[in-house]
Amino acid sequence: MKFCCDKFEEGIKRDKRSSPNIRIVRFLSHNDKNLEQFRLSEKITFSFRVKELGPYRFYITIGYTKFSLSEPSFFIDFCPFCGTSLHNFYREDGLANEVEGETF
Ligand SMILES: [Zn+2]
Repeated sequence: MKFCCDKFEEGIKRDKRSSPNIRIVRFLSHNDKNLEQFRLSEKITFSFRVKELGPYRFYITIGYTKFSLSEPSFFIDFCPFCGTSLHNFYREDGLANEVEGETF
């Protein structure tokens, strides 16, 4: 199964300009310390979490044309519909809507 549930799939495939939608973002800087710059609001345990979470981050946004972390969005770790751990389930390239700085 490519998606954890039908509702999550619908949220991802929805037009990115519509509201709300789900985005999967792959961070190229996953393996270096630059990633910390994107998560300055996280707790001090962040550097350990990077290794646990992998390169993908999951957001619910209110719609956009070009993804930016400065856009209004909400970071999620679990599917809001079925409760699946997104970091454990989505571990392949190809589902990402954006690679850091580039929207598909
Ligand atoms: Zn789900």
